[in-house]
Amino acid sequence: MSKLLPLYPWQQVDETHLSTYIIQERVPQALLLSSIEGMGTERLALAYIQALLCLQPYQGAACQQCSSCQLFLADTHPDFVHLQPKEAGKSIRIDDVRLLTEKLSLKPQYAVYRVVLIQPADKMNANAANALLKCLEEPPERTVFVLLTHSVRALPATIISRCQKLICARPDKQELAGWLQSQGVQQAEELVLLAQGRPLLALEYAENDMLTQYTSCFNQWHQVLLGKFCPVELAEAWTKLPIESLLDWVILWTEAVIKSHFQSTELLISSEFIQRLQAIAEQVDSKTIFKFYDVLLLNRDRIHKQLNRQLLLEELLIQWSFVGRNYSL
Ligand SMILES: [Zn+2]
Repeated sequence: MSKLLPLYPWQQVDETHLSTYIIQERVPQALLLSSIEGMGTERLALAYIQALLCLQPYQGAACQQCSSCQLFLADTHPDFVHLQPKEAGKSIRIDDVRLLTEKLSLKPQYAVYRVVLIQPADKMNANAANALLKCLEEPPERTVFVLLTHSVRALPATIISRCQKLICARPDKQELAGWLQSQGVQQAEELVLLAQGRPLLALEYAENDMLTQYTSCFNQWHQVLLGKFCPVELAEAWTKLPIESLLDWVILWTEAVIKSHFQSTELLISSEFIQRLQAIAEQVDSKTIFKFYDVLLLNRDRIHKQLNRQLLLEELLIQWSFVGRNYSL
């Protein structure tokens, strides 16, 4: 939990929006807060929740002083319930929602709101979501629900329709590069592109020297296409790297090849990359590359289900080497 940490600059507009709910006493019974990953949206949600629980909020923000604020910051507020999977990556189950409804059958202890944070809301399985829906339809006394998600589409329409929706504003590329520079990051613009506009991911990439890794992965991927690197060996080497990032990168490069077919130029970290991707586009027919792209998207959906990551990478890279069969450079 990231309580009492300052909000990020790109959250100001949304913070104002949420404060207005409190100032105007138009607090939605259920708020669905959605954003792309890596924006620190949990901070925004917690600041809003603390302000809702605060006994003397000022201009819609928590006072940080009252007994309610103190309890919240100490993680012991009796009117705050955090519903999340028992283990990261697992589902929120119906038993968890039943426990929640039992708690909610009791009266709130403080005079203001009681708040339930559901995070990530898309991790509720179908039964849990159904049980929660009943709660949303007949909300308990002074209880507010905040649902946090990076994937609205994974939520049942019945839940979405019961919520006020707020999609968090993304920083534009310039704003984000400026913020990264203020954090002491070099090559900020390249990192923004690499992290596809996700601020905290860009920062993480900077800390882990991901630009170097990115360049080396691109070279290896290109070598597989040229038949100069064995796909199975590369799959083994790549299992040591974060698979989500790898898949994102391969998707990005493949999309660039597709775009090249349509004469669209996309900035991809360095112009040398673009030249090589354009050269691939000239050699490979669009049907083949679209077929590979489909395989990629399918695998992106499978990464959380497929336990054997090496096998997944092997399949992918073998397919990629097939793309290169008619390729001569
Ligand atoms: Zn307070």
